[in-house]
Amino acid sequence: MKVSLASALGTCFGVQDAINLAMAPEFRHDMTIVGQLVHNPQINESLKKNGVSLVKGVEELDNIKTKKVMITAHGAADKTKDRLREAGFIVYDASCPLVMRVHKTIKSMVEKNYFPVVIGQEDHVEVKGIVGDLEDYLVINNEDDLEKIRQRGKTKLGIVSQTTQQVDRVEGIVDKIRAMDCVEEVAFVNTICQPTRDRQVAVWELANQVDLMIVVGGYNSSNTKKLVQVCEVKNIEAHHIESSSQLNPQWFANKKHVGITAGTSTPENVINEVHTEILRIAANIDRMEGQPTPL
Ligand code: SF4
Repeated sequence: MKVSLASALGTCFGVQDAINLAMAPEFRHDMTIVGQLVHNPQINESLKKNGVSLVKGVEELDNIKTKKVMITAHGAADKTKDRLREAGFIVYDASCPLVMRVHKTIKSMVEKNYFPVVIGQEDHVEVKGIVGDLEDYLVINNEDDLEKIRQRGKTKLGIVSQTTQQVDRVEGIVDKIRAMDCVEEVAFVNTICQPTRDRQVAVWELANQVDLMIVVGGYNSSNTKKLVQVCEVKNIEAHHIESSSQLNPQWFANKKHVGITAGTSTPENVINEVHTEILRIAANIDRMEGQPTPL
């Protein structure tokens, strides 16, 4: 059985920078992260071990016991940051620059009188941050939501995307919006970030070669779920796991080539553990079948 890693996978620079800031020794026992720093259970565990406190969001202000607070790579609305400063906290901002680019883009569209539309998940922390300073907006998650545009009666739309969406899906939704008879003008800036695109392209290419894909990342990680969706589009059996302990050897029976990919919040050590365990499973299967494991 052959085992291959996707050519782009795992932690992006935005997540890594945020983790490095949160793990800085001077913040030990004196920092609360507002919202999940990254959607990855192992990273959140190591943060807690390092004495960093976590709260779900700014609504838990009363539970913050440290003087210093940190905004995550997902970003936050200016209103949220102001609220924290007004409450007396020192705010460290680890917002990814590519998320901040989305904030700037949508604000400049509003200034040009476009009605702001975000393609993404309304309940995702990044989307909440993008729309948090806007007076009026729409969040579209799929084609079923398009009717909302008609209902709102807005004809000049400025559209951006959550950074971790799937490229083809977003472009498909925008094409459908452009074709709506009630829409007169669309300004679209595709704000899906480059690391997300790279991982989607890599999994797409690898899916052409394998008959099983293992996707590693937090169950609540948006971009990891999108990697699973790419496999579904390619009709490749895929299993989404958070750690090597979830690998089931039965998945690998009769498989010739297994691919491994991981979302932008999945740390390298977790990917390595999964890779090592899959190589072990593959070697066992090959031994039983009397074949060497190709590298
Ligand atoms: S996934 Fe993209 S936008 Fe999000 S932190 Fe990573 S680089 Fe930044």
